[in-house]
Amino acid sequence: MIKRCGSGAGYTMSAVIIDGKKTAAEIRERIASRTAELKAGGVVPCLAVILVGNDPASLSYVRAKRNALSEAGMNDRSVQLPENTSEAELLSLIGELNRDESVHGILVQLPLPKHIDERKILFAISPEKDVDGFHPVNIGKLVIGCDAPLPCTPHGIVVLLKSMHIETSGARAVVVGRSNIVGKPLALLLSRKDCNATVTLCHTGTKDLKSITKDADIVVSAAGMPHTIRADMVKKGAAVIDVGVNRIPDASKKSGFRLTGDVDFDAVKEVASYITPVPGGVGPMTIAMLMQNTLEAAERTREC
Ligand code: NAP
Repeated sequence: MIKRCGSGAGYTMSAVIIDGKKTAAEIRERIASRTAELKAGGVVPCLAVILVGNDPASLSYVRAKRNALSEAGMNDRSVQLPENTSEAELLSLIGELNRDESVHGILVQLPLPKHIDERKILFAISPEKDVDGFHPVNIGKLVIGCDAPLPCTPHGIVVLLKSMHIETSGARAVVVGRSNIVGKPLALLLSRKDCNATVTLCHTGTKDLKSITKDADIVVSAAGMPHTIRADMVKKGAAVIDVGVNRIPDASKKSGFRLTGDVDFDAVKEVASYITPVPGGVGPMTIAMLMQNTLEAAERTREC
């Protein structure tokens, strides 16, 4: 059944909480069996995750990606480099991994230390091994609608919407945030024919954000700022996707912080028809899509 968002004034129930963890686990199970088939044919999908430095958030993201690799039965060629690694050293490692036929995917964990030019690094990764989908060749393919590895978080959001049968065709979608890794590619994906949404892309230069989000059937927040989306900014029955991951100091937690999204979850769930939690919404989907991109990169080598 296709469920419609934005069902208007009659909408009274609390939102369905979208379980990204469950959907991601189902996808990862399918990836594991496709991986096993590929391995039986002699190709073992392999990803190299490169981390420079010791940023605690990056360390935890890399750990999650490596756990997913091992769970899928893929090879892991990850490398952790010291904070003072030079740009030339990193470029040389990427060159080696580009040439290594047993490596199918290369991911450089962002952000990089300030002395390294992020663009230079991302552009150096071979587009065929760019499992993040950030290389300009792959972004260009996304723009013109050719097959290419799609950026993991935006792709994960679209898969999540489809898995919940949330109607995107003809829907008004608002994306808050215009980064190259989330907001812009998501706006492009949602406006492609297979999603068919009418998309508005907002940022800090947007005037009266509330007047725009209030009209939307689908609101996606990727601002990285708590309270970006409040209940009075959401139309009754809209679907709300929270990409934000914000660390809030919390002395009651062992880690000293808790994670929160961009959306006022408790208040917005009383207005929306669907909502993603943080954590447990978009995050797990990002990792599932990364595994999918790695598997597909390996599958393509078999086709050559
Ligand atoms: P980013 O590069 O910092 O971009 C944030 C964007 O939001 C910018 O375009 C900024 O506008 C806009 N923005 C910030 N505050 C705003 C406001 N109050 N109103 C309207 N627009 C606002 O961030 P990102 O890398 O896209 O990440 C966004 C958030 O998603 C972060 O919390 C990040 O941790 C999280 N994230 C989560 C996942 C996941 O898998 N769950 C993956 C990636 C990122 P300007 O361009 O005008 O500055």
